[in-house]
Amino acid sequence: MNEHALSDRLSCVGSFVPDQARLADIGSDHAYLPVALMLQNKISYAVAGEVVEGPYTSAHKQVQKNHLEDKITVRLADGLAAITPEDQIDTVVIAGMGGPLIRSILADGLANHHLSGVNRLILQPNVGEWPLRIWLQENGYQIIDETLLSENEKQYEIIVAEPGVSTYSLKQLFFGPLLMQEKNAVFLKKWQHERQQKLRVIESLQKAKDPQEQKIAQLKEQIGWIEEVLS
Ligand code: SAM
Repeated sequence: MNEHALSDRLSCVGSFVPDQARLADIGSDHAYLPVALMLQNKISYAVAGEVVEGPYTSAHKQVQKNHLEDKITVRLADGLAAITPEDQIDTVVIAGMGGPLIRSILADGLANHHLSGVNRLILQPNVGEWPLRIWLQENGYQIIDETLLSENEKQYEIIVAEPGVSTYSLKQLFFGPLLMQEKNAVFLKKWQHERQQKLRVIESLQKAKDPQEQKIAQLKEQIGWIEEVLS
């Protein structure tokens, strides 16, 4: 992967960026996404935020190599603290991290008013999609699009959210309200696998000295949901 040939996962994330957006890519690593989108003339300005020195330096070099210093600002900062009101960011990407980390970045950003002018979040959690969707709904965001794709034997969910009210059930937030309607091949494969995993966890919990009844009941409920959706 490089700035000219993104992975399928990052290309798909980029496809949800509105034309001529002012983008913040938080946890940008090599800044491949903002550089690629700028080279395609898809965005008008970007901030590449990084909290770790090494990736921050890589992002800086990538921007310099492509002579984009006047259009992409690279900042060493924690989460959404990378953006300032002057940036006039309207779209935020947070990709390739765990759902809990994405959630805490969003929660800090919301508390510190970094999300005020932002009208689209494009999130790609590696794990923990359910609590992330719950957070979005509880904090005034509605899911306007979702994708589940597979690359190199791994499955990735991309969640696109905008400010708004939604009243999805816990079950809809568990699967992804739009993904469960579409039920594509990757979705079916993922949930067959998850069902097996959960059955195995129940089996080992039941063998334990102190079988955690509440946890087992929770898993059984989720298996019921999965079987319903797969049927
Ligand atoms: N976004 C790129 C992608 O999807 O390919 C890079 C993903 S990489 C696995 C995660 C990056 O997020 C790392 O470079 C890490 O340093 C950065 N990161 C982790 N926590 C962060 C935070 N609180 N603020 C900014 N960047 C963070």
